[in-house]
Amino acid sequence: MIFKCINCGAEYPVSPETYLCPICSKNNDAKHPPLGVLQTVYDYNKLKTTPDLFSYLEAEAFLPLLPVNHKQSFSSLRVGKTPMYEFKLGNKTLFLKDDSQNPTYSYKDRASNLVSAFAKENKITTIATASTGNAGSSLAGICASQGQQAIIFVPASAPKAKLTQIMMYGATLVPVEGTYDDCFELSIAASKQFGWYNRNTAYNPLTIEGKKTASYEIFTDMHKQAPDFIFVPVGDGVIISGIYRGFEDLLKLGIINKIPTIVAVQSAGSSNLVGNLGSNQPQFSASNTIADSIAVDVPRNYYMAKKFLEKYEGKGVIVEDSEILEAASDLSQNYGLFTEPASAAAYAGYQKYAGKFGFPKNSKIVIQLTGSGLKDLDAVKSISKFPRAIKPKLNEVEKFLEERKK
Ligand SMILES: [Zn+2]
Repeated sequence: MIFKCINCGAEYPVSPETYLCPICSKNNDAKHPPLGVLQTVYDYNKLKTTPDLFSYLEAEAFLPLLPVNHKQSFSSLRVGKTPMYEFKLGNKTLFLKDDSQNPTYSYKDRASNLVSAFAKENKITTIATASTGNAGSSLAGICASQGQQAIIFVPASAPKAKLTQIMMYGATLVPVEGTYDDCFELSIAASKQFGWYNRNTAYNPLTIEGKKTASYEIFTDMHKQAPDFIFVPVGDGVIISGIYRGFEDLLKLGIINKIPTIVAVQSAGSSNLVGNLGSNQPQFSASNTIADSIAVDVPRNYYMAKKFLEKYEGKGVIVEDSEILEAASDLSQNYGLFTEPASAAAYAGYQKYAGKFGFPKNSKIVIQLTGSGLKDLDAVKSISKFPRAIKPKLNEVEKFLEERKK
């Protein structure tokens, strides 16, 4: 297996010292998506000769498609294998893949687990990352379970639940008076200075690789079938690239014959990928949305995500914050799934797409939910106003119920 630059095609050995392609990343600046992100390439032809290939891969915990050698290198926490709930709606079927059921309550555990396992096999004990909250709490939790030290750089303004979670796991929390981008650059400089392994999203190629495992699970959950559509919330473009990577592996191995239609959903206040689809002169504007885990000024995995969407005819949908809040209510009240706004965005994207284009008969549609609503209670503050308290008397209850009707 090797790392291959998605821009120039240069190949590099898989090692903890290799992050971006040194040739392409030479002139990267913080205002534009980085060039030189690396993709992991496997020997598909050799694997293809294995009889009953998918069952074999499943039994091997997909190790032949991951850059680690031993199952024991992974966290003993249950990462992935998250539930997928099925709902028959008229002539289509909706599947909700709930990644809030990961150990630290977000999709990011898939990447943290792989990064941590790789570090373990390379005898590295300290891992640093920049984060808006979820990646940091994820790395902190996974490292705690693996006896590793995590160092997390976050904007001081990140949601309190996520910061508390990072501290409870015993990680070193470094709040930075600045943006996520400032944290990103600082964590790289500090990692070089102090010799830490760096987990920064899309900078470390394993973050994309770790996130592809959801695709294998979706395929398993659907009894070895690929869905027709997958709605994915998009910020940096890493989760969507991971999902493409997973299905592309299955395509290259001859296990499936078509990649599902993947729909990238972004918030109108942070639409730097979907807004630039089909354009060769991308514009990047500052983000402003309640969906904080997909609020991104410069998408770190812009080029790979765009390439995948264009190659496999993916689609893009932009949703307003008000639609995200409505979707959050809908998911909570009709499905019992209280998700973070980013996940609700994916569901809002599905609703918008349904209204605009509809779905062919008997479509199987997956919505990827990425994190728990408990992580950012402030985001839903405007739609969850607490009722007034009453005195502990029965007639007060009656009065209260009357008031609520109004
Ligand atoms: Zn390159």
